[in-house]
Amino acid sequence: MKISGKFVWSSTSAKVLCESLGCTDPLEAIRLRSLRLIEKAGIERPPFSPYVLGLRLGINRVVFSPIGFDACLLPTTSGYEVQICSEHSRIRQNFSMAHEIGHVFFFEATGKSAIAKREKRIGMNGPDREEEFLCDYAASELIMPSFRFFRDVRYFGPSLGSIFELAKRYRASLRATTIKFAEMGLWKCAFVFWRLIGAGSDADFQLESCTRFGGLRLADHEGISIPKKHLLAAVESGRTVRGRELVQMGQLKDTYYIESVRIGSKSSSRVLSMIFADMDAEHLAYASRQYLAQPTNQKQLFEEND
Ligand SMILES: [Zn+2]
Repeated sequence: MKISGKFVWSSTSAKVLCESLGCTDPLEAIRLRSLRLIEKAGIERPPFSPYVLGLRLGINRVVFSPIGFDACLLPTTSGYEVQICSEHSRIRQNFSMAHEIGHVFFFEATGKSAIAKREKRIGMNGPDREEEFLCDYAASELIMPSFRFFRDVRYFGPSLGSIFELAKRYRASLRATTIKFAEMGLWKCAFVFWRLIGAGSDADFQLESCTRFGGLRLADHEGISIPKKHLLAAVESGRTVRGRELVQMGQLKDTYYIESVRIGSKSSSRVLSMIFADMDAEHLAYASRQYLAQPTNQKQLFEEND
């Protein structure tokens, strides 16, 4: 497991954004600016519509068309126009719209750009692409504002059922929901997306993405693995599989409580796992399930998600 050090922000736009809001950390600046916009729009509970928020910020025209990329922000004489790919799911369109609001935050601080950018890979930006990464962060903060999301995470507790419930409430993708859940740092748990490759005796699982683990960033290249048998049981049963399993992260091996579930239809080969390292993991996960009296309809969620 690679423990990444404290990231040092270096872009001018991140610096100017911080200065404009009196913050020292760009993430804090994004949270503050997002909160101000949400308060201005008067939205108090989920879902936090990025279209309503965008309108409050001067994005007075949104066009859905088959543009072949995620989205595009166009400065106009009266504000901004956002173009969004009409072929993407509503959840993905939501995130793209919120990402463009993030760019407007930067335009406010640095001055309006005259150039429209064709945006691809929204939601997948690493911190090396600072402004894009911060706009992804803004998108997650606008859709799942920390001040409200933290309360819900604490209330629902750590379980995959909780992730499904939160994704439905906030109209966010499962991936974005797991990232925000881990960011709240309430428990020492990480979420991993796997993809099944091969079949029969050659079947194996490839790591697609993973969240932070107890405040630490797991390095994808150093690898993380859990027993294939556990993941295959999730794929084949279509139900949530639970239990203590041996987990290898880089050079480290330990036994943790894991919940895994297949994502999507029967033919889907993706699995989402929650790896939970707290001492009382089983009890906390059990308590979480009790709060979710009516489990979220996963089938309905998958149709709209990712
Ligand atoms: Zn962008």
